[in-house]
Amino acid sequence: MKKKAVYKRVVLKLSGEALQGKQKHGIDQETLFSLAAQIKEVKELGVGIAIVLGGGNIFRGQENTKDKGLNMDRSVADYMGMLATVINGMALQDALEKIGVPTRVLTAIEIRQIAEPYIRRRAIRHLEKNRVVIFVAGTGNPYFTTDTAAALRAKEINADVILKATKVDGVYSADPFKVKTAKKFKNLKYIDVLKKGLKVMDATAVSLCMDNQLPIAIFNLLKPENIRKVILGEHIGTLIR
Ligand code: UDP
Repeated sequence: MKKKAVYKRVVLKLSGEALQGKQKHGIDQETLFSLAAQIKEVKELGVGIAIVLGGGNIFRGQENTKDKGLNMDRSVADYMGMLATVINGMALQDALEKIGVPTRVLTAIEIRQIAEPYIRRRAIRHLEKNRVVIFVAGTGNPYFTTDTAAALRAKEINADVILKATKVDGVYSADPFKVKTAKKFKNLKYIDVLKKGLKVMDATAVSLCMDNQLPIAIFNLLKPENIRKVILGEHIGTLIR
């Protein structure tokens, strides 16, 4: 029997790092195409997919302010970070369209020559027409992150869940790369993520999800098939509700 998706519409949050593969910066072609293939596969399950892309593989605002990286004003650095997400969006669109997946890039900062401006109703229309939508330029505002953009857009387009693909396979009580005894949570409440200061999403993004009852599924991106498993309802990582 053909397996059925448990979600109708999802927001997939991919950090910039998800595109860099084994490289330290930038975009790795093989990783990009593997991701595109996974997205195509889950789309064929009949799920509406909107992607929010990060930009950390190219530029992160908060790492380039005074005393760090470049000596820049935070707002300037953040706008540069948002532009980095546009570059990632163009790359992912190219990869998706090369394998026959119609895709639209919608940007929160207007760059008319290369992407459509973000208009909520238009985003919904694209999804109804079975196109993959890629949201770039975050929220369009400095001092925010693309995690917050994912929470915001997910609510705006009535998505059922945020799927946040990360380098680890869920949320742990401590950094599992550093602390051997770190324990993985299967389920978590938003308030516990905030109280325990768990490094899974920034507090603004978590509280937006909490105030609007938007579930967040955290899972390991490095294992191919994981996006599909989560969409088919397998509880493989951590579910925050
Ligand atoms: N950014 C921003 N406002 C937003 C989203 C992103 O200013 O609404 C900037 C911020 O400087 C951030 C950078 O864009 O460091 C890249 O986004 P993010 O760090 O969220 O990317 P990720 O870590 O997911 O790759």
